[in-house]
Amino acid sequence: MATPDLDFARDFPTSEALHERALHVLPSGIAHDSRHFQPFPLYVERAQGAHKWTADGRELIDCGMGHGALILGHGNPAVVEAVTRQIQLGTHFSAGHPLEVEWAERVCRLVPSVDLVRFTSSGTEATMMAWRLCRAFTGRSRFLKLAGHFHGWHDEATVGAGASLTEPGTVGFNPLGVTLTKAILPNDVEALRAELETGEYAGFILEPSGGGMGDVPLAKGYLQAARDLTARTGTVLVFDEVVTGFRFAPGGAQDFYGITPDLTTMAKALAGGLPGGAVGGRAEIMDWLAFHDEPGGRTKKVTQQGTFNANPLSAAAGIAGLDQLADGSVQKTINERTHRLCEGINQVLQALDEPGTAYHVGSLFHLYIGADCPIWMEGDEIKGEIDLARLRRGMPGQEMFRKAMYERGVDLFHGGGLLSIAHTDADLDQIVSGVESTIRAQRA
Ligand code: PMP
Repeated sequence: MATPDLDFARDFPTSEALHERALHVLPSGIAHDSRHFQPFPLYVERAQGAHKWTADGRELIDCGMGHGALILGHGNPAVVEAVTRQIQLGTHFSAGHPLEVEWAERVCRLVPSVDLVRFTSSGTEATMMAWRLCRAFTGRSRFLKLAGHFHGWHDEATVGAGASLTEPGTVGFNPLGVTLTKAILPNDVEALRAELETGEYAGFILEPSGGGMGDVPLAKGYLQAARDLTARTGTVLVFDEVVTGFRFAPGGAQDFYGITPDLTTMAKALAGGLPGGAVGGRAEIMDWLAFHDEPGGRTKKVTQQGTFNANPLSAAAGIAGLDQLADGSVQKTINERTHRLCEGINQVLQALDEPGTAYHVGSLFHLYIGADCPIWMEGDEIKGEIDLARLRRGMPGQEMFRKAMYERGVDLFHGGGLLSIAHTDADLDQIVSGVESTIRAQRA
């Protein structure tokens, strides 16, 4: 793919200078692996609504939205107000506080499967805790996951997190620890049945959107099969709703699809755009975190600490955010807008006779432009062959495409993005016309 009409260094000189400095103090000059970008990543100074401004003063429509945390947009007034009030009252009391109770009450009320919840500081910590709770509850050691499904960066979560079934996506992992987690191909119900029927697995975790924020969608019926087979084999079913939680519907993907897991991991929208995560679920599983002080009570428990668990700032932001997500109208609007965005892009592809597709699950959308795209949207449904390796690799020239979209005022995220309630019709039009003009420029 040719470089379309770009002079990155001319257009983003302050970002380039910042990156030069960053290279002296941050490995690769970045703070998150997904920000690695050639020739250099952009540095952003401020954001409002669905837009952000780079240090170079260039305005971008944000399709990353806090990696999905900012479903209400940047600078949501109620969140800003709640955090501003709380920062003056205190950010850490080395004690429980009223807001953590209120926050937990909302989570238990909104998420169908959650009787009890324990807060963490991130999604990674939430899934680590899920692994541990499943083992404590079942007394089994092995753990099952799906290839291409991302659950954070701890050792066991990295098994098969990329396109490979067996390779942890990192070096430096504990070689003994990872042998207990196995990844199988998504959408293969027979493989799932064969593994679960061994009766050896403590838990089975998946992204209910499909792996990589719905990049590799789940086939229809797979979630139900997962529910039935885990129930039959005494395996704890964990939905990783770090992205989908409160986003697909007030109660997350389990609410959206009507399938109830045993445990749920959450983060992102949970904390209103501040750091925060949680694991919640059936009382008898969550009870392994509880102290049993009574005579004859359980003497051993699952331990958990974490300086910033349920900290007052994140709790304040979380409450203010969840209160705006409770009636489902935000999610309904965003899901519909995401559908319209994909329709708009698909019309452009058709009009230009360009092979490829824009597809979405809820408010998570992906672009795959290229003749080898194996899937397409028909109405609300994704059709075709859900080819893990191909979809996980992303469309050919994805980085170049993102760069060209920067030039057109759009910041894509993982070959697509996530919408927020702050994205307007004008924003969607600009994304669609950006795709059209990028394709035209590439042809020229
Ligand atoms: N699970 C899923 C599905 C995620 O998408 C992510 C992060 N993108 C995580 C877990 C890890 O969350 P965190 O980055 O907060 O550790």
